[in-house]
Amino acid sequence: MPEADSTVPFDFSSYGSEIADLAARGLNDAAGAEGVRAAMARVTGRAEEVQTSRLSTNEHLIACGPGCADCCRVNVTVLLPEAIAIAAYLEEIGAGDEINAMKIRVADTAARVRWMEDDERIRAGVACPFLDGRGWCAIYPVRPLTCRALSSTDPEQCRRALAAHGSDEEETIVVNIFQKFLMEGTFRALATAMERAGLDTTGRELCRSVTRCLLDPRLAHDFLAGKRIKFPES
Ligand code: SF4
Repeated sequence: MPEADSTVPFDFSSYGSEIADLAARGLNDAAGAEGVRAAMARVTGRAEEVQTSRLSTNEHLIACGPGCADCCRVNVTVLLPEAIAIAAYLEEIGAGDEINAMKIRVADTAARVRWMEDDERIRAGVACPFLDGRGWCAIYPVRPLTCRALSSTDPEQCRRALAAHGSDEEETIVVNIFQKFLMEGTFRALATAMERAGLDTTGRELCRSVTRCLLDPRLAHDFLAGKRIKFPES
């Protein structure tokens, strides 16, 4: 695809409408978890296509990459289609010991961070259970939109900011603002499509949501039928 002219202002409003329509069509066509995953793949695929088309100048450089997982210690909020897609991906990549151990870690982390604010979690150093032994995201193709919105231009700034978190010293992180707005806009557009379709738009913590999806094979059908998905004690 030809690179977009990055000097031309990006029309986030039109982009949001496009993503909302794309998500609505995908969710409308979906009959189960795989259909939801396909709908999410179309949404994130379009977001990545736009992101790539704008990465032409230095000010758009992003430092985030494989093995740089300093920020993977905060609570991540997902919408249900994202959690369903992640659970479907985990089921697809196998039932080996490594994946089974990861599913157990995800459930354990869900319980551990349940009542933790970001500050507390950062202080406790509770890492995301989807990090593999190399510090790579094991669910990278289906990672949440909130994770995609993290777009630091300097990993050292991230480390200093996390180290200073909760103290009086503040550390500024220079982010790629285009990517941040793009992914946050994609999240909002997905929520808009869900709301219009009468689907459950509640945002929930990543590990808790994925665990709930893994434990209930009917969840995707119930979600697509417009039922409000109950979580224990929610
Ligand atoms: S899902 Fe992946 S990118 Fe997001 S916090 Fe976890 S390991 Fe990091």
